Amino acid sequence: MDHVDDARLVELVEVTPRLHMLRLPIGQAYVWRDGTELTLVDAGWVGAAGEIEAALRGAGLDPARIRRIVITHGHRDHIGAAQELADRFGAEILAHAADAAVIRGELPVAPPDLLDWEVPLFEHGLTVPDAPPTRVDRELADGDDLGFGDGAVVVHTPGHTPGSIAVHLPHHGVLFAGDTVATVQGVTFGVFHIDRALARESMRRLAELRPSVLCVGHGEPVTLDTAEQLAKAAA
Ligand SMILES: [Zn+2]
Ligand SMILES: [Zn+2]
Repeated sequence: MDHVDDARLVELVEVTPRLHMLRLPIGQAYVWRDGTELTLVDAGWVGAAGEIEAALRGAGLDPARIRRIVITHGHRDHIGAAQELADRFGAEILAHAADAAVIRGELPVAPPDLLDWEVPLFEHGLTVPDAPPTRVDRELADGDDLGFGDGAVVVHTPGHTPGSIAVHLPHHGVLFAGDTVATVQGVTFGVFHIDRALARESMRRLAELRPSVLCVGHGEPVTLDTAEQLAKAAA
């Protein structure tokens, strides 16, 4: 992290033919493709828009086809480049109503309820540059269909933040879980939750969806024994 300026900030990894992961030094975003139309789930760091654009082009994806950017929650490593990408490519920014004011910069980010072992990790996370105030074009609620991926359902998963969401593509068995779940050492409960009890309840709700592909904010996508691993971690 000391030499982030010298390194590439963004790496693009194929998860399935219609799904790519954008890997940043801390955190990840995802690109879903319907024909040539693209949907981003989260948007990486402020300043990363140029590299995200280049990474997409490098994989034969046209960034001008980014139709929408879905924000899983209002943390800097997930929203940083959203506004710049949306402005460049005419995309819409969508986020849950309960995190919208934070994302717009109208309210401060609520501090997490840190466990002792999370403190050094959290301090490391502060190396991500602060996100600028970011517009939210559409405020989401539980059950909304976002109109991509042959059906993309918003699952409100409060706890990590009040407006944390997951996005479920039932037709493809894909679940974007945000930071409620992590996969850094197997499938685990995420870190830095504002309300840990609520986040646990949310994780159990996600496990009931029994996804076959699990995409999280921190850690590799899971594509093998996914539902079983998630259910075990949530239990
Ligand atoms: Zn987060
Ligand atoms: Zn995160």
